[in-house]
Amino acid sequence: MSDSHRPRKRFGQNFLKDNRIIDAIIAAAQLQSDDRVLEIGPGRGALTNRLLPRVGQLHIMEIDRDLVEAFQQRNDPRLQVHAGDALHFDWTRLLTQPPYKLVANLPYNISSQILFKMLEHRHLFTCMVLMFQKEVGDRLRAEPGTKAYGALTVLCQLWFDVERVVLVPPQCFTPAPKVMSEVLCFMRRSAPRVEVDDPAFFARVVKASFAQRRKTLKNSLKASDLAPESVEQAAQQAAIDLQRRGETLNLIEFARLAKALHSAT
Ligand code: SAM
Repeated sequence: MSDSHRPRKRFGQNFLKDNRIIDAIIAAAQLQSDDRVLEIGPGRGALTNRLLPRVGQLHIMEIDRDLVEAFQQRNDPRLQVHAGDALHFDWTRLLTQPPYKLVANLPYNISSQILFKMLEHRHLFTCMVLMFQKEVGDRLRAEPGTKAYGALTVLCQLWFDVERVVLVPPQCFTPAPKVMSEVLCFMRRSAPRVEVDDPAFFARVVKASFAQRRKTLKNSLKASDLAPESVEQAAQQAAIDLQRRGETLNLIEFARLAKALHSAT
């Protein structure tokens, strides 16, 4: 990797330099020699160099073309280099032999978007070990009724068991970010935590319920594209008080509301 490469803030480049954290990430991924892995943002290779010798196939997606070249020159048949924006790639077209594991020290500015994209493609992944800003990590493990609880919490907890691997202080990176980070491990559940008839519709209801956080469910759902009469009817059927706020509903209640709404629309 070129020594002259200067970290680029716009790409969220905080490179890992602490071997204990790298060890913890690699251990959490429980790698097998025939695993296929996707790494988003390999950067200077802190994780890549440890992943590659341990797996059958490693896909990397890196937006910074100055960093991509060194990986392309490796000519390792196990390494598939995708130069460009991970959010723009068609994951289904590139990852054609599921299941995959996803391992990444994510750029913080796009971590929520990557999570939503991963949730859409959840069938591709069995296990993910991801670094987040601690505040985002807190959101993913949050309980209903707390400020941190949001659409991402509900959707991640529906499909995955989420656990903290390790807290990561700023000095473990170069350059050091201003905030604490944490590594989380997501294991895909054999069945969703609650039964959901139509996952895409469920996600729509959850996102609409959190779209305006300080509003009641009634107002949040009214502002969505769901018909107001069906909202009233469904809420009654599901025994959900529309004066509540979205963040007070647990997974079971969201599932009940989505099911009733689905049959009312
Ligand atoms: N994995 C390396 C490490 O742990 O040291 C680098 C992690 S750094 C936090 C994030 C990496 O993601 C950078 O290499 C950055 O260039 C890359 N990146 C940022 N935005 C990206 C995007 N939209 N798609 C793909 N890679 C991206």
